[in-house]
Amino acid sequence: MKWTKALIQTLREVPADAEIDSHKLLVRAGLVRKVAGGLYSFMPLGMRTLKKIQQIVREEMDRAGAQEVVMPILQPAELWRTTGRWDAMGPNMFKLKDRAEREYALGPTAEEVFTDFVKGIVSSYRQLPLSIYQIQWKFRDETRPRFGLMRSKEFLMKDAYSFDTDAEGADKSYWNMYHAYERIYKRCGVEAVPVQADGGDMGDSLTHEFHVLADAGEDGIAWCGKCGYAANLERAERALAHVPAVAGATPEALPEEVATPNAKTIEEVAAFMHLPPEAFVKSLVYMADGKPVMVCVPGDRDVNEVKVKRFLGAKSLELAGFDAVLEATGANAGSVGPVNPVSKDLRIIADSSLAGATGRIVGANKDDYHLKNVDLKRDTSIKEEDYADLCIVKAGDVCPHCGGTMEIKRGIEVGQVFKLGTKYTKAFNAVYKNDKLEENVIIMGCYGVGVSRTLQAIIEKKHDKDGIVWPASVAPFQVVIDLLDPSVPEVAAIAESLEAELEAAGIDVIVDDREERPGVKFKDADLIGFPVRVVVGAKGLANGGVEIKRRDEDKSKTRIVKSEEAASAVKAALALG
Ligand code: ATP
Ligand code: MG
Repeated sequence: MKWTKALIQTLREVPADAEIDSHKLLVRAGLVRKVAGGLYSFMPLGMRTLKKIQQIVREEMDRAGAQEVVMPILQPAELWRTTGRWDAMGPNMFKLKDRAEREYALGPTAEEVFTDFVKGIVSSYRQLPLSIYQIQWKFRDETRPRFGLMRSKEFLMKDAYSFDTDAEGADKSYWNMYHAYERIYKRCGVEAVPVQADGGDMGDSLTHEFHVLADAGEDGIAWCGKCGYAANLERAERALAHVPAVAGATPEALPEEVATPNAKTIEEVAAFMHLPPEAFVKSLVYMADGKPVMVCVPGDRDVNEVKVKRFLGAKSLELAGFDAVLEATGANAGSVGPVNPVSKDLRIIADSSLAGATGRIVGANKDDYHLKNVDLKRDTSIKEEDYADLCIVKAGDVCPHCGGTMEIKRGIEVGQVFKLGTKYTKAFNAVYKNDKLEENVIIMGCYGVGVSRTLQAIIEKKHDKDGIVWPASVAPFQVVIDLLDPSVPEVAAIAESLEAELEAAGIDVIVDDREERPGVKFKDADLIGFPVRVVVGAKGLANGGVEIKRRDEDKSKTRIVKSEEAASAVKAALALG
């Protein structure tokens, strides 16, 4: 391919809405163009990489025994109503009507369509297990589309679904996909770590997310360097340390009011009372499915709303408004606590680390007052069964598996594998007959790869100050030949024959045949990030040959090889990459 014939447009200026490096580079290297917020067109270079990632995903799905199909993007509302997700998906789902007023969704995912498909086809155990997948555009009306392809309104996803007769088979399908995912990211040249994740409304269901660790990641991950335990912060657990005593507190002392004027947050009250935040109980009032619930955690910790929601078995959870807090406790947020709230039916739940805690300071349910010397068992109505793990893990917490110290890392979720059980198949009554002709519900799993997000996650990990540093497996072109003197026939001929030889070997090559200064060519090559650069110029040839350098090497590593040996030198350079 000749550069002068290719649609390549690199930009010097940084796009105004790009906050992270990979978003800036994606646009500057001419891989995509923004159409509107959360919507992008893929330019030829971006399309080449997108296709290479798709191909890796496809090959590994096929290798894992899954078969490719494709389902419509436009999905009838009835399918979503069957599982109750027409409403449950909320405003995240794009909904529309046809001219006959029939309702549809633009698929944000495809469990319903796939389950309905399989129900219509599978009737006997002989047709199972079955794994099918598609690589299809998905639509989500994200609250905050941002970071380019990382969180867009329209994105390319590979979604696979497994259907099994029994739990053992479903388990096998799950781990089969898990291992296929390990191979996919490895082949894409980027490390993605499997992380235990929260099952959402599927409760304790087994699920792993694959994360590319990067500061730009939107997810927090608890990580134990000692045993390798890794879990999304939504789910991560900690080993409970012993309940620390509060300095200066006498456990027998009874609760006593302390005036804390104008001090609202734990930090403000702690500073006012000259005590550490751990001496306090942080109490927050939530509305869980419309009913108020008080959640108590140690003063130096944050509430994990995912855990609270799961513990309560609630469908919705949000912080209570001003009036609801006052009605439930008798005070405003900032002065509320678990001792004698005015509403006798207010349910109070607390983090396990507070079980047995004494000498604590809590809001007094009276504006601008706190209570000290609180013994949670003696002075509150919190029942034993209402203590549970409700906190977000912090750096320095103790690993629940090995006692090591946990760190917090940031990650980009590039894929997820999920054991669904019978949630969807039950709703659709997707059953099979066993060898005794008895009917059983099919057991399902689902497995997503964010193909377009993976493309950008690779850039986020593989770039330097000059541009992208593509892994050879997914680079738009593996080799760029910078032809410095395109008008000198002998020089152009050498570039031409090297291009032909490399292409014959199955290597993607682009020849920069523009009438541009070398500096411009080198800058663009570095920005786009072709893994190997060959410089062919009259001066170089007179001095012994062509220059070869890998993108991830600095200039001092440039080697000069005779033009006849260039092709094998390029192949060697690529094999190393
Ligand atoms: P997130 O938590 O980031 O919103 P998700 O868990 O809702 O993602 P899944 O339903 O698991 O997403 O979808 C499978 C994969 O699709 C994700 O692992 C991610 O890589 C990708 N993905 C999800 N939402 C988007 C989006 N808005 N833009 C780009 N890729 C996305
Ligand atoms: Mg996910």
